[in-house]
Parts: sequence; C-alpha cells; structure tokens
Amino acid sequence: MKNLIKNFLLFLGIFLIIAAVFSAFAGNSGDVKTVGIETLINRVNQEEVTELVVSGNKITATLKDGKKEIISKEPSESLSTLFSNLGVDKNKLTNVKISVKDASGWDYFLINILPFLLPFLLVGGFIFFMMRGVQGSNSRAMSFGQSTAKDFKPDEKNRATFKDVAGAKEAKEELKEIVEFLRFPKKFHDLGAKIPRGVLLLGAPGTGKTLLARSVAGEAKVPFFHMSGSEFVEMFVGVGASRVRSLFEKAKKNAPCIVFIDEIDAVGRRRGSGLGGSHDEREQTLNQILVEMDGFEATQNIIVIAATNRPDVLDPALLRPGRFDRRVTIDLPDLKDREEILNVHIKNKPMSTGVDLKKIAERTSGFSGAELANILNEAAILAARENKKEIFNEDLFEAIEKVMIGPERKSRVITDKEKKITAYHEAGHALVAHFIPEADPVHKISIISRGSAGGYTLKAPSEDRHMHAKSEFISEIAVLLAGHMVEKEIFSEVTTGATSDLRRATSLARSLVTDYGMSDHLGPRTYGQKEEMIFLGREIHEQRDYSEKVAEKIDEEISGFIRQGEAIAAVIIRDKKKELEAIVAALMEKETLEKTEFESIVGPKPVVA
Ligand code: ADP
Ligand code: MG
Ligand code: ZN
Repeated sequence: MKNLIKNFLLFLGIFLIIAAVFSAFAGNSGDVKTVGIETLINRVNQEEVTELVVSGNKITATLKDGKKEIISKEPSESLSTLFSNLGVDKNKLTNVKISVKDASGWDYFLINILPFLLPFLLVGGFIFFMMRGVQGSNSRAMSFGQSTAKDFKPDEKNRATFKDVAGAKEAKEELKEIVEFLRFPKKFHDLGAKIPRGVLLLGAPGTGKTLLARSVAGEAKVPFFHMSGSEFVEMFVGVGASRVRSLFEKAKKNAPCIVFIDEIDAVGRRRGSGLGGSHDEREQTLNQILVEMDGFEATQNIIVIAATNRPDVLDPALLRPGRFDRRVTIDLPDLKDREEILNVHIKNKPMSTGVDLKKIAERTSGFSGAELANILNEAAILAARENKKEIFNEDLFEAIEKVMIGPERKSRVITDKEKKITAYHEAGHALVAHFIPEADPVHKISIISRGSAGGYTLKAPSEDRHMHAKSEFISEIAVLLAGHMVEKEIFSEVTTGATSDLRRATSLARSLVTDYGMSDHLGPRTYGQKEEMIFLGREIHEQRDYSEKVAEKIDEEISGFIRQGEAIAAVIIRDKKKELEAIVAALMEKETLEKTEFESIVGPKPVVA
C-alpha cells in the first residue's frame, strides 16, 4: 500500500514537470502577442516587420522594435499563396527575412501530438509502475533466503577492543587465544594443532557477551559477521537454513573472519523438545548450522562465536567436539569489576569531584555490565533535567534506586494511616536485618513509594559472596517476614503490602528444601526436575520426580523454615521495641533514612560471633 502511494506521488511529480515544460513551450513566454492575419498584412505593408518564421500553422513575426507576434494560419496554405491572395506588396516583402522551420520538429510534436498522447502516457505509466511494485514484492518474497546476504557485511563501524571490556579477566584470557589463532594461524598449523571452530559465550543477559565477541574481531583485525538467532527464523519455512548457508558463504569468501551468532538458544534449543510441529523450522536452521560448521576446513580460519544465556536448553549436538567445544563463561561482575566497568562508561560524562565510584559499585551487587552502564546514563539524564553541569553522588544513588525498584512516585497520595503502616513495615525489615549478624547491612530505608512498592529497605552485602550458608537463608526469611509481623503486632491486622515479601520468603524456603538439600528430614537430594518443554507457547518448568507422600513432606518442611525465620524475627521485634518506635518516628519525619542516620538510631551492626 505504501508502495502504491509512493508510485502515485512519483508519477504526479513527473506529470507536473511535463505540464510545466509543455506550458513553457506553448505559451512562448512573456511579451508575445497573438494577433490576426490582417494585422500582419498591415504591418508588412507599413514595413514594420523585419523577420518572419513559419513553423507549421504558426507564423512568428519579429517587429522593428524587437517585439514578437504570433499569427495562426491553416497548415495547408503556404505563406506565399497566403500573401499573394491577401494583396501584400511584393516590394516590401524583399526587406523581410523569411524562413521556414521544419513543422515536424519539437514544436509540432508538443503542440499537435502531445495533448493526445499525454493521457495515454499517464495511464500507461501508472499501470507500469503498479505492476513493477507488485512484482518487486513478489521477487523479494522469492529471494528471502539470500536477500539478507547483503546484510552480512563485515561490521566495521562497531569496532571494539579488549580495552572496552572491563573486568571479565578470565573470559578475556581465553579469548586471547582465539585472537592468536586468527592472527598467526601458521604458528598453530605448523605444529599440527587444529584451530577450534566454535566458541560459546555463556553468561547472564547484559554481562558483555556481544561486546566481547566484537572485541575479539577488533583485536584480531578480521571481519565480523553478526547475526542474531531470532533473525534466522522468518515467515517461511526453510528461510533460516538458507540464511545460514548464505551467511557462511559470505564468511568463507572473507576468511579469516569471525561469524557471531547471538542468542543462539533461539535456534539451538534441544531438538524434539517442543510439542507440535512449529519447531521444524528451528530444527532445520540448527541442522544447517551444524552442517556448515562441519563443512569448513580446518585451514579456513573461520571461527564461529555464539552467545547465549540459556546453556541449559542448548542441543547437545552443538556442544560436541568440533563444534562449540570451547565454552567461555562470563560471570556477573564482582565489586572490583563493577568499579572498572563504571570507569569505562564515565568517559565523556563529567563527574563531580565528590563522586566515589567504589561506593556505587558497593551498592550494585548483582548488577550486570549493561545495568551499570544504564545507571550512569540514568544519572546523566537526572542531572541534565536539573540543569546541572556535572553528575553528583545523589544523581547516581537516585539512578540506582530507579533502576532497581522503579521511578519515585512522589505524587501518589497516601493517607496518614497508610504512611504510618508503611513506616512500621519498613522499620520492621530494617530492624530485623540490622540485629541479625548474618543479614546484609541496611543502606537505606524509605517510605516514598517507588515503582509498585509502597516503601523499601535497601540492603547490600559488604562483600560479594558466591556461597551461602543455611543460616543466611533463614535470616533472609526472617527479614522478609518482619514487615508483615510488625504490621500485625502494631495494628493487629495485616495489609496487602506484604504480598511480595511473603512470596519471596516462601520461594526461598522451597529452594532450601528442593534445590539446596538443606532440610534435615528430606536429606541431601533435589526434588523436581527443571525441564524445558514448550507447549502452546508456555514453558512448563517442573517435572515431579517424587511421590505424593514426599510432596506433603516438602510442604511441611517449607512451613518449618518459615516458622524458624518467624521465631528469629519475633525475638528481635519483642526486644527492640524502643528502637522500632525511634525508626518509625524518624521515617514519619524525614521519609528516608540513609545508613548513617539509621545507625545513629539503632547503634552499630552486631558482628558475626
Ligand atoms: P550481552 O550480549 O551479554 O547481553 P552486551 O554485550 O550486549 O551484553 O552488553 C550490553 C552493554 O553493557 C554493552 O554494550 C556495554 O556498554 C555494557 N557492558 C557489559 N559488560 C561490560 C563490561 N565488562 N565492560 C564494559 N561494558 C560492559
Ligand atoms: Mg547480547
Ligand atoms: Zn516489605
């Protein structure tokens, strides 16, 4: 439809141009007057005419004062018979220059034929353009498979190097080897070493997989062909496979080079795991990738890099030797890496001198590189909106909370009662978190609503930890339940504000039993198999591998852990009433408490004995 309109407009444009040209010829511009034949005879007899030009049925007369006049005559009559018939003085004519222009010239055509031809040309042209439009989309449909071949241009403008990737030291170390392979293949061939064909980058979303792959190409200075797994899958069956083929053809012509398949899980899921036929297309695409990877010679120096955040769903055939046998895991950045990533991204962002990126890194435990980059961007936006010239600490903190929980909603009207309930709820979380030595220290409490939360308490571990003990989980459950418990104690009724706390506490308790083997009664084993099945577009996750009787036991154990957490929280809430009231009073007054303000009320955090 868009095409049709475009063609129509194009055609209208052409028409207007023709019309303009035509009228310029026909009107013969400016000060030309059309006069009758008698006037001409008179002028000739009075010797006012210097030149006569005859063309077709038109006579153009040039007068002594330079003016021009046009006279029409019948085409069949010649000028001389006309003049003799009308009694022109022959002697006076000798002073007039008379010339005859070929009547079948441009003028003749424009004036006599074009008016008839133009409508036909217009209609014919319009039909032609329409046909071409229709055919165009047809032929495009037919060449779906190859049409993106032109998209497989080496990605030159997005050059990156290892310098752009902060942290991720181990991953970079492993990928350096790949760079070596690409730069000095001979060194390896001479010793009979086979160059690996595929490297699989594994890591959570936003950890820099795409960035790393690009930087490998940048370091090795080879072309980089980028394609995302989902791009292989199109409307027509077979398109994916043919795209894979043309991608690899391109790559072979440009070897040595890197082929990067992003989000490979979109095509590389375990075959045969879907119910229903719609996955044939994916399977064909995957098969084609496997065939292509087997097909190129070890001497061709093409390295395929693929990235995914779902290694668990990949087809085992992809992981077999000779395919993606190198696997590089990229972890979420730790404290030091986070600081480095922030440092990479503050380039061309003016930071106020008071900004301490280490503090920001401390508060962003569990954030990915992409989220950190996003925080700096949000902070810059916040600062710009307040017309600041630099980014300050408060912008960064605000940005962290905005990314973590959602934007502040100062305008939300809350009643005093609601405010009070929220204050007690958050104070409960903070109090219990503070007085359990194993729990993470409180960084901030706020009763300003943000995103979907009425208030929030921010805790952050003082250091990154990768293993957690059972006692930590129990204390986490206690902290989660505390808000609910304080509400119940003070107001002797509960609100819906604690729903997500309870849900998180329950799922944590479930993991303790079914995943971590931390239940004394059920022993060190896992329950339930997480298997990926897709049925009618929904993923069915858990497969039961235990009996009804055990299911009951699991429920009991979950409740047991919840009760343990509850007991710990209850003791603290009972013993620290004074502190609780002090926190609530401060919150009602200031709405947010930073770490130092909070600790001046409750004292320093007790340490683990
Ligand atoms: P993934 O492909 O793993 O989802 P990307 O490579 O697309 O993640 O990363 C998104 C963005 O996050 C990058 O463009 C970069 O700006 C930032 N980023 C992620 N990790 C890092 C890192 N280690 N160093 C610097 N920037 C990073
Ligand atoms: Mg990516
Ligand atoms: Zn809560």
